[in-house]
Amino acid sequence: MKTIKDFNFKNKKALIRVDFNVPIDKEFNVADKSRIEGAKPTIIKVLEDGGSAILMSHLGRPEGREEKYSLKHVLNAASDVLGVKVKFAEDCIGHKAEQAVAELKPGEILLLENLRYYNEEKKGDKEFAEKLSKLGDIYVNDAFGTAHRAHASTTIVAEFFEDKAMGFLLQKEVESLDKVLNSTEKPVTAILGGAKVSSKLTVIENILPKVDHLIIGGGMAFTFIKAQGGQIGESLVEDDLQEMALDILKKAEEQNVKIHLPVDSVVTQEFDNNSETKVENIKQITDGWMGLDAGPETRVNFAKVIEESRIILWNGPLGVFEMDTFADGTIALAKAIAAATEKGAFSLVGGGDSVSAAKKFGFDTKMSYVSTGGGAMLEMLEGKSLPGIEALN
Ligand code: AMP
Repeated sequence: MKTIKDFNFKNKKALIRVDFNVPIDKEFNVADKSRIEGAKPTIIKVLEDGGSAILMSHLGRPEGREEKYSLKHVLNAASDVLGVKVKFAEDCIGHKAEQAVAELKPGEILLLENLRYYNEEKKGDKEFAEKLSKLGDIYVNDAFGTAHRAHASTTIVAEFFEDKAMGFLLQKEVESLDKVLNSTEKPVTAILGGAKVSSKLTVIENILPKVDHLIIGGGMAFTFIKAQGGQIGESLVEDDLQEMALDILKKAEEQNVKIHLPVDSVVTQEFDNNSETKVENIKQITDGWMGLDAGPETRVNFAKVIEESRIILWNGPLGVFEMDTFADGTIALAKAIAAATEKGAFSLVGGGDSVSAAKKFGFDTKMSYVSTGGGAMLEMLEGKSLPGIEALN
């Protein structure tokens, strides 16, 4: 598969699918520019070669041409991050787009209006994709966040190009995951947390043969604890998955994977930041109480495993980190991963909530790589190939 390094963009127009689906605040300012920063190396490479960049993206989930989802709100932030005044086309296909492209000179950047103003984008419509393809000479996909969707601009459009490539961001995402899942270095540790076992079942099955340690925390741990005969009070549980949980534990043993479950939990009677809490043995939680964070002994146990790991994958928080009262377990975990990373381990954080937790507590810069795509990352962890990447082949 070709990467952007295989091309020289001199006098070429690169049609780049970026992920500028950024959070916009009430004043229509970009609240977090990291997705724009993520796309910067690819865009700059095109400009430095002497080419021009035509950026296409979606923003939110508009129903028709809803003004609040216009990508013009992203223009200032994009110009700021990229260090070049970004031009804007009020449409992503048709006369306005074509004219703006025709006027574009080498060294210039044009941002097209929201792709999702057209239903054809999400439908993966061929005619729409062909119209997009007319705007550029070389197609570059750098939108990892939507690479798991077979939409017109992420997948179908590639059919109309002879010259197509992965951008630097997409390449980095794929390489980081490959480093974890096909590592020659050991031990490899995966930490899975979050609310539900059901949403991570396929991930667990796929990564078991590739890891030495699997840490299971967060709400999903309680299904395992209950299946082992523990009393979990009112904690989150998926009763229909208890047998599956036991099966996973058995498979792990057969494959020599060490599973680490929490031994204690911060429990409470109400799902409230100001509620009374205490620490209990995770197998003996009082009736009417629920576990919302990893307890202190668990934190120490998990940190010991992480300290000895060379490759670390983290997906999902260890508690309800959105409330300060139940954030300490997740913070301790992030701290342990940051310390191991500093000592030379490779750490990859992926999946929406662990990324927001890492950012919230200031650990995102202390990990080796923080993925930009939650859904896409989960699908890769499940062992699926992503249509946006396949289409570049
Ligand atoms: P997921 O999207 O499955 O990764 O789940 C993330 C969510 O799990 C976060 O919003 C956390 O608040 C939540 N979570 C983590 N631990 C628990 C717990 N012990 N009980 C309930 N929710 C939890």
